[in-house]
Amino acid sequence: MNNLNQFSNIDAALIMNAANEFGTPLYLYDEKTLLERCGQCTSMPTPYGLTVRYAMKANPNRTLLKTIYNAGIQIDASSLNEAIRANLAGIPFEHILLTTQEVQLGEARAKLEELMLLGLKYNVCSLNQLRLIGDFASANGIDLGIRIHPGIGSGESATRNTGDDYSCFGIHLSDIEEAKEYARSKGIKFKHVHEHIGSGADSEVWRQCVDLLLKIIEDYFPEAESVSFGGGLKEARMPNEEPVNPAELGRHAKLRLEEFYAKTGRKLHMEIEPGTFIAANCGYIITKVVDKKNTSRSNFVIADGGMEMNSRPLLYGSKHPIYIVSSDGKHLKSSEFCDCSCGSSGEYSAVVVGKCCESGDCQTLDAEGRTVPRPMTEPEIGDYVVIGGTGAYCSAMAPYNYNSHVQAAEVLVQLNGEMKLIRKRQTFEQILANEV
Ligand SMILES: *Cc1c(COP(=O)(O)O)cnc(C)c1O
Repeated sequence: MNNLNQFSNIDAALIMNAANEFGTPLYLYDEKTLLERCGQCTSMPTPYGLTVRYAMKANPNRTLLKTIYNAGIQIDASSLNEAIRANLAGIPFEHILLTTQEVQLGEARAKLEELMLLGLKYNVCSLNQLRLIGDFASANGIDLGIRIHPGIGSGESATRNTGDDYSCFGIHLSDIEEAKEYARSKGIKFKHVHEHIGSGADSEVWRQCVDLLLKIIEDYFPEAESVSFGGGLKEARMPNEEPVNPAELGRHAKLRLEEFYAKTGRKLHMEIEPGTFIAANCGYIITKVVDKKNTSRSNFVIADGGMEMNSRPLLYGSKHPIYIVSSDGKHLKSSEFCDCSCGSSGEYSAVVVGKCCESGDCQTLDAEGRTVPRPMTEPEIGDYVVIGGTGAYCSAMAPYNYNSHVQAAEVLVQLNGEMKLIRKRQTFEQILANEV
């Protein structure tokens, strides 16, 4: 069994072939896993209709957007540029909802209004955003969505909690009356009420926030026809992590939406906005071992890709599975993706670092930023170190030009097993192009 893990079609030979054909370092995406995750989301139980929106900030590659859209999923955009990018991928504006911290002024405001006339949906996230769009929305009879800050949140780290008192996102409960008063004065209806409580949210908190948001809708939003419970569906990247079960979350939401109907006579359409859950586990970073060092404290494996491709360990202390593939791709050396000492015989462990001049350029960091050796089969120079769980917030979020490295290429492994280049490697000239 040469597959890297139980859920993908990716095996050791394919890793070698991809590296030979496209060079390293490289992002590789598995369409099979991507579509499976899409299916799990679109089949979530719900009583009065479901819209799944992919939070495209997780990975905005055009080919992935098309694949996800063709699987029946619409778009959550976090910026005006993202909305435009999704549209360039062939997705109509009426299937894109903009929920952003941006405040568009000048030319950007004109663009926002132009796109709203073409169907772009807009979720206001602050009183200021609401006041800026008020006259336009009212003059054109456009309904708005409103993002509520529910006062409770959950995320895998404080920096990924978007719903608690420490975070700024959305219109806080203390401002709801003012937002409503303003909307009333302009004749604007809030047809869509939204929350997003954080990335990698605890399921229990996610369920609590379903209850909380429905109560808020009951108390404040008599005109709401749809409700979004946001993203944050937790994915398991490491084998000892527990992924969320969308069906189970759906059953909870379904029950509550039915209770809401029994109480108020209103059938609310449900939306969710997963980013991580859809994209994380379809992605791999293929790096090549370029150097090794053995010190009295740890062994180091130096790979040709690191924080400039995946900054999550540095940002959050996130753990990603690591697979070792021999340079001849004939066999996968003991799949060493465990965080604990299971898997290998424990003889060898190593800290996996990248090629940047930065001590945080390490794929095996703990939450305090210390390098932690990971048990694994010892790779030779020229072997491949493959980092799993890197489909979301890696290519999209990494500081790719640090140390003047070029942004890596992206390749999709299609359902039929064929590999397709979906983003070229950046050229050195492109790094310099805007310097004057
Ligand atoms: C980032 C984001 C999401 C997706 O979060 P994940 O943790 O990747 O699922 C959903 N909705 C909004 C508004 C977001 O900003």
